[in-house]
Amino acid sequence: MDKTLLLQQLNDQFAKKCQSKLLATCQRIVPGTGSANAEIVFIGEAPGKKEDETGVPFVGAAGKFLDQMLATIKLSRQNIYITNIVKCRPPENRDPLPEEIAEFWPWLAEQIKLIQPKIVVTLGRHSLSSLIPNQKMSEVHGTVIHQDVPSIGKIHIYALYHPAAALYNGSMRQTLINDFQKIPTIIKTIINQEKIK
Ligand code: URA
Repeated sequence: MDKTLLLQQLNDQFAKKCQSKLLATCQRIVPGTGSANAEIVFIGEAPGKKEDETGVPFVGAAGKFLDQMLATIKLSRQNIYITNIVKCRPPENRDPLPEEIAEFWPWLAEQIKLIQPKIVVTLGRHSLSSLIPNQKMSEVHGTVIHQDVPSIGKIHIYALYHPAAALYNGSMRQTLINDFQKIPTIIKTIINQEKIK
């Protein structure tokens, strides 16, 4: 069966059986958008107000900034997949709780296993620590980590600052833009490494 259809089915199944307490306060589940054949999966934190209204991840100010950075490396939403660790909006946009991250983890793991991207780009510290605990963002941002992640397997992870945090912080913003520019070369390198294996 076609991967697009399989991803649709996977998202429908997880949405149907979702029993998160966040359902009581959010308007809708935001599973993720983009291509099931993407080479890159971006993972944010959780839907915010705009995402909760539209059902689409990263549609607010941080999302516009993300779109601009994608355009500079000649990518658009159609070529990538974007999702969040937590698929329902936490009240007042608070940080997701560890138990919320844990309850949505199987859904995220299955999305990554189905898409099989060349690289998983984490946006912000919550996203990074859900895949690799105990990493310092200031030390690992802009570097590729090849990691065996429980219930996913070995994947390449690329940690970036969260666009919402970087948006109004001059130096973090520039760091994020610089790290973003490295993505095409990183993907080429990974593809070349796979060829010689
Ligand atoms: N919008 C999202 O979908 N995720 C975030 O982490 C932030 C904004």
